[in-house]
Amino acid sequence: MSDQNQTITGFKLWHLSLPVNARRDHGIGSVAGAVEIVVLRLEAEGGTAGYGEASPWVVFTGSAEATYAALDRYLRPLVVGRRVGDHALIMEEARAAVAHCTEAKAALDSALFDLRAKIAGVPVWALLGGKCRDAIPLSCSIADPDFDKDLVLMARLRADGVRMIKLKTGFKDHAFDMMRLERLRADFPEFDIRVDYNQGLHHDTALACVSDVATFKPTFIEQPVKAHLRALMARIRDAVDVPLLADESIFGPEDMAGHPGIADGVSIKIMKSGGLLRAQTVARMAAAQGMSAYGGDMFESGLAHLAGAHMIAATPEITLGCEFYQATYFLREDILAAPFPVVDGHVHLPDTPGLGVSVNEDALARFEVAQ
Ligand SMILES: [Mg+2]
Repeated sequence: MSDQNQTITGFKLWHLSLPVNARRDHGIGSVAGAVEIVVLRLEAEGGTAGYGEASPWVVFTGSAEATYAALDRYLRPLVVGRRVGDHALIMEEARAAVAHCTEAKAALDSALFDLRAKIAGVPVWALLGGKCRDAIPLSCSIADPDFDKDLVLMARLRADGVRMIKLKTGFKDHAFDMMRLERLRADFPEFDIRVDYNQGLHHDTALACVSDVATFKPTFIEQPVKAHLRALMARIRDAVDVPLLADESIFGPEDMAGHPGIADGVSIKIMKSGGLLRAQTVARMAAAQGMSAYGGDMFESGLAHLAGAHMIAATPEITLGCEFYQATYFLREDILAAPFPVVDGHVHLPDTPGLGVSVNEDALARFEVAQ
């Protein structure tokens, strides 16, 4: 029996609440106090374990409770007793077994990749087609309603060698957004600045606000209006001379196929696409349409960051960097046994088997939410 024919014997879940060090406001909602994630551990008959994380956000993709139920009730029966090499078939069945719940499917896909890669003795990126880069430029989001606190964070980022930020806009008023852009351009001229509205603009005033913000020449402006207003996205794209990115409007490959022309680029997240391979598919469909691609994330721990980083390492079409900053700059404590590998403003890809950094199961026990 080859190693990839090992049977999956263990399927364990943790619903976690992870304390955070700041408040974050976005166009669609806020995060304060803690973020909730679900962690999955698969175990194969040889004793090898693979981990995956689901990072839902109630106002964006879904709730931790729904994610836990999807994994526990609907996906567990598809996995336990199967061979690890049945990965592709398991994921196909998972898509049919429960609608939406893309974060749950991302956790399952990540855990299967981690398990298979550990059994094969290779890093996850090797199973995703090989590596096209050793490090990914890191972007950190600026989203505190108290801008003075974000200025302190900016100084820390500069000292750490980070040179990309994403300013979250559209949660207060337009003057606040313009004031912050002016200050950031003046005080931090070495930074590559991106802007993300998270759907925060009203359709009546969106074009005027975006046109003002475009005068600061950010690298891109992301998702100014509601996800379903795709025709308005296309109109704004045509009218403004700064690249427009789609995030909430594009979850998986199906959205790429159905809505050409709404943006110049797309934010790619394994939590939206429902897994690593489907995220790669979105990136390749984007490139085929002449769209650029950015490595986005949700409110994640280092475990989901690792899965996303391996995916981006193996996806040359994602050229705009990544935003895997939470484990380093937002969580009070991560769940990895060693720091998520950020050095000099870049995420560095582990070359060790699996995802490359082990999970601290003591932390899983301490942060677990009672079911
Ligand atoms: Mg976004």
